[in-house]
Amino acid sequence: MNTEIVDRGEELDVAAPRCFCGKIARLQTSLIEANPLRGFHVCPNSSGRRKKGCGFFVWVDVEFPHREKALVSWLFRRLKELEKDVGHRQARERKLMGWLILSWDLVS
Ligand SMILES: [Zn+2]
Repeated sequence: MNTEIVDRGEELDVAAPRCFCGKIARLQTSLIEANPLRGFHVCPNSSGRRKKGCGFFVWVDVEFPHREKALVSWLFRRLKELEKDVGHRQARERKLMGWLILSWDLVS
């Protein structure tokens, strides 16, 4: 298999295989809950779920052990809850600021 080195920033360099089109596979990182932060190579002609290119796909990183997956899953859920909470608080803050500005107009 023909390979080329792909820079992963601060992580170790990995050898990129060529896809079935003969192009250097693109290195991506999974952000889904089932495989968080797990690197994989795909056809560079693919984009998202609709366009698969030649269908080439291979994991780079090993799968997290069950315990670590459960931990990351819990952290993802907690992050979403906190983001939702922040959104509600920001909306409330905007509403209160509107009332405050209105009350200044009534006083002056
Ligand atoms: Zn391809």
